[in-house]
Amino acid sequence: MSETRRSGQFVVPGERIGVIEEFIPDSGTYVENGVIYSKNVGYILVDSVNRKISVYPLARGLCVPRVGSIVIGHVFSIQSSMAFIRIVKVGKKFLSGFFTGVLHVSDVDVKYTKDIYSALKVGDLVRAKVISDVNRMFHLTTKGEKLGVILALCSKCGGTLILKSKRSKGLYCSVCGNTETRKIASDYGSGSI
Ligand SMILES: [Zn+2]
Repeated sequence: MSETRRSGQFVVPGERIGVIEEFIPDSGTYVENGVIYSKNVGYILVDSVNRKISVYPLARGLCVPRVGSIVIGHVFSIQSSMAFIRIVKVGKKFLSGFFTGVLHVSDVDVKYTKDIYSALKVGDLVRAKVISDVNRMFHLTTKGEKLGVILALCSKCGGTLILKSKRSKGLYCSVCGNTETRKIASDYGSGSI
């Protein structure tokens, strides 16, 4: 496959920008199976003399999740032991939404969580912390009082789940009375994200 990558071309994280046979990957890039990808939102820079390719970031301090970032996102899929979260906010800034976070069952709570479905469900709004960002895979944790589900809907009728009491941490549906469990953040239901 031949690719023409020129300086100035706009790319986003995870976008393929070349192969190691044609370029030496430089700053703002990473390699997977011989393919060079962009790590940044920015512009390609090709150094044709040295055959180097790099990605110049669009702006300093651009809103990209980093290790330690507190993020807000929606659970869009759960598969066996992992929940996949579409990150919509990093710190105080909302994003256009092309970052995906992965939350493994072992990172849900300080307590052992046997079944991820007892802690999270598709559609939940979650506050989490980024613990790893290797190759633009954002691994998240919800361990900690302030982290976890901040808004959840009833899996039976779609009504908003309400906290029974601070102590019990159980949730009930204001519409149908169904009770459910989640790993909730201490400010569940306060409306602040
Ligand atoms: Zn309900």
